[in-house]
Amino acid sequence: MDALGYYNGKWGPLDEMTVPMNDRGCYFGDGIYDAALACNGVIFTLNEHVDRFFNSAKLLQIELSYSKDHLKNVLNEMLGKLDKGSFLVYWQATRGTGRRNHVFPGGESNLWIMIKPIEIVDLSKKVKLITVEDTRFLHCNIKTINLIPNILAAEKAKQEGCDEAVFHRGETVTECSHSNVHIIKDGTFITHQLDNLILPGIARSHLAKACIKLRIPVDERNYTLTELFDADEVLISSTGTLCLSAETVDGKSVGGKAADLVKKLQDQVMGEFCEATGYVKP
Ligand code: PLP
Repeated sequence: MDALGYYNGKWGPLDEMTVPMNDRGCYFGDGIYDAALACNGVIFTLNEHVDRFFNSAKLLQIELSYSKDHLKNVLNEMLGKLDKGSFLVYWQATRGTGRRNHVFPGGESNLWIMIKPIEIVDLSKKVKLITVEDTRFLHCNIKTINLIPNILAAEKAKQEGCDEAVFHRGETVTECSHSNVHIIKDGTFITHQLDNLILPGIARSHLAKACIKLRIPVDERNYTLTELFDADEVLISSTGTLCLSAETVDGKSVGGKAADLVKKLQDQVMGEFCEATGYVKP
């Protein structure tokens, strides 16, 4: 078995798993999720992902009947059923089961887990970005499974031969379809502040902590598309990519003016990952 699925205690090969039609995740997208990177049987930064998951549940009033420790045990147990390697460990809680009705159904939430192989990214890879108007709602700090604008933006990026889409609300850059986005200007790391317009990315927080360790000033604030195009470097971060630098945005060259700083940051975040999981860079 190379990938595993789990639903409320039942588990098996991912592609053979089924779920009930009355799960509210199926017709309302009424649920929250989180996802972490695992390597050599260790789920990296699991505590932070589980904390965010419980916070998302609280913000959407989805009641979780288990403790954080119980969830961590189940995730580790499921990961243990797969061979050693690197995996994306994804889990979601949907607001229970019932015939379609907008109001809450009451009863238990449903726990889904999906674990699939993933390659650890080579941080020297440069990414190409496009910009897309951010038409999402005003609860982007909650990791809900409603991701329609995100998937449309990611697909648009792919169709244009790019890796990620940078969302902006008017002139203000927010985040990407499945990453956070940051710039470096005159030695300062600039990233959108934590508010309801962005997801509090775990990789973003590790990158900001890496800056502090390396004595790189961090400025959390609104920044503009003009600043993005003028930046010394443009970076994206996520669980799966840790920290990658961009070479183009909308086909125009960006960044490349603070390569040493980028390398230091990448070494710091990759170093943490290697130390926690025993991953050895090829
Ligand atoms: N922003 C969005 C919209 C995301 O979907 C993600 C990850 O899925 C991120 C940012 C990055 O978050 P993290 O670093 O926790 O993976």
